[in-house]
Amino acid sequence: MTALCPMPITMMTEPPPFATGRRELARQRAELARRELANCRFCAHDCQVDRTQTQAGICHAGPEPCLHSAQIDMADELELVPVYAIALSGCDMRCAYCITGAQSWNAQAGLALSPAELAERARRALAGGARTVMILGGEPTIHLPYVLDVVAELPETARLAFKTNAYGSASSRALLHGLFDLWCVDYKFGNDTCADRLAQIPNYNRVVQENLVWAARQGDLIVRHLLMPEHVECCWRPVAAWLAAALPGVKVGLRTGFWPAWQSRRHAELRRTVTPAQIQQAQAIANEYALRLIE
Ligand code: SF4
Repeated sequence: MTALCPMPITMMTEPPPFATGRRELARQRAELARRELANCRFCAHDCQVDRTQTQAGICHAGPEPCLHSAQIDMADELELVPVYAIALSGCDMRCAYCITGAQSWNAQAGLALSPAELAERARRALAGGARTVMILGGEPTIHLPYVLDVVAELPETARLAFKTNAYGSASSRALLHGLFDLWCVDYKFGNDTCADRLAQIPNYNRVVQENLVWAARQGDLIVRHLLMPEHVECCWRPVAAWLAAALPGVKVGLRTGFWPAWQSRRHAELRRTVTPAQIQQAQAIANEYALRLIE
């Protein structure tokens, strides 16, 4: 069992992030982030490789990302849509069931686009009625120089969301502090054995919980959990229990549309969708812990 955060989020006193001056701040941070590429510690894998020279880090990312899509998305939470979703290729996790596995496991998949060109597309989407610009992956934390360049090109008033697997490092948190209006965090596994077996991730719960507590202080936070077949008790229950204890009242998206994508067939229990009984059981757990579920 993982340790609980000792302090409820409502007692934390860090000042709220701000929007004024965001573009300039992002510009400055992008320079810092670009320097950090030479000794990459953007995520908790802490590879310390020079990404300007090699793609030998666990994510296999180089200095610049590729995009595997940038488009309007209606599949996010109701309060966010329509979302202009910017999906960067490459990830630091290896989730066997990843719905975008071909792009997420290959940091070179897709097309290169300059931050200015991408921001122009996002501006057009906002002018057309998009409510949120969301940066996601793969995992966007592994591409912080580019992400910060994009933020520096977007309007100060745009509502910006960062969707992450929460495996970032203290260095990433320092670079991202105060720049996003909303954090959308996937809390995937309720124990480290499942995290290691299904996504090859060490120390998963400690790192994710640390990042979640931090993200909750950044502003608006939505925590998502994708319910996996046969993982209701081992994964969803501990996630629900921790959220109730450490982040009471946090918005939670319980996702029940698991699809056995990518390499799911390697794991017997992931070769199917979740059953109605499992969904019912998961909802009962959410009620038991009085979670604030959102659509
Ligand atoms: S982003 Fe993470 S996985 Fe990728 S090279 Fe840096 S520390 Fe390693």
